[in-house]
Amino acid sequence: MIDFHCHLDLYREPRIVVEECISRRVFVLAVTTTPSAFAGTRALVGDAARVRVALGLHPQLAHERQGELALFDQLLPEARYLGEVGLDGSPELKHTWASQIAVFRHVLNAAQNASGRIISIHSRRAAKEVVQELQQCPRTGIAVLHWYSGSLRDLRSAIDIGCWFSVGPAMVRSKSGIELIKVMPKDRVLTETDGPFVTVEDEPAYPWDAEIAEHGLARVWQCSVVEVRQLIRGNLLRLTEMKL
Ligand code: MN
Repeated sequence: MIDFHCHLDLYREPRIVVEECISRRVFVLAVTTTPSAFAGTRALVGDAARVRVALGLHPQLAHERQGELALFDQLLPEARYLGEVGLDGSPELKHTWASQIAVFRHVLNAAQNASGRIISIHSRRAAKEVVQELQQCPRTGIAVLHWYSGSLRDLRSAIDIGCWFSVGPAMVRSKSGIELIKVMPKDRVLTETDGPFVTVEDEPAYPWDAEIAEHGLARVWQCSVVEVRQLIRGNLLRLTEMKL
C-alpha cells in the first residue's frame, strides 16, 4: 500500500499512526506544511523503513510563513522530497496570491539549483498557473500533482511536461475525478489519502485508506486490485530510483 501524500504529523495521535503504518508495511510520503515542522516530523517518523518526510510550505500558509524560506533553503540539502507546496486559487486566498507565487517560485528555483527533487504539489483552482510555473522551471525534478482537480486541458499540459499524479479516496468517488484519472498515464499514477484532512466515514483518512483509491483505480482501469497494486508499486520504485 502506498500513501504518497499524507500529513502524518497532524493526526491527533501521530505516533500510533506511524506504528500502524510500520506494521501494515505502508509506504508513506509524510508531507509537511511549514519548514519548521520538518525536524519534528522526522523525529516522529524515526527510522520507520517505508516512511519518507517531505519538506514543504503549504500555499495556504505562504503569506504567514514566507519568512521560513531561509529555513527551507537550509534544510533542502537533507530533503529528497518536497511538499506540500504549490498554489491555491480559491477566492478566500486571493489576497495571498503574491506571497503564494513568491514562495512557489522560490521552491521551484531552489529545487532546480539543487539538481532536482520529487515534489508533491497542491494545485486547487490553480492548475493552469502551477503548470505555467513548472514550465518556467523545467529541471525541478519530478512534479507529482496531488489530488489534481483542474481542467482536462490543463491536465494534458501537465502530462506533456512530465508530471506524475497522486490519486486519493475523494477523487475516485467523484465523476469529474474519474474523467481525469482516465486521461492520466497509468505509469505516472500513485495513490494517496491527504489524511487527516480527508475523511472516510466521518473519521480522518489513515494511510491504509489508500486502499479506497486502489479499488477506485481498479474500477476505472477495469483490472483487479492486485494488478493496481503491482502497477502502483512498480511506479513508486521507478520514481524513487530515478536519477534527478
Ligand atoms: Mn495535503
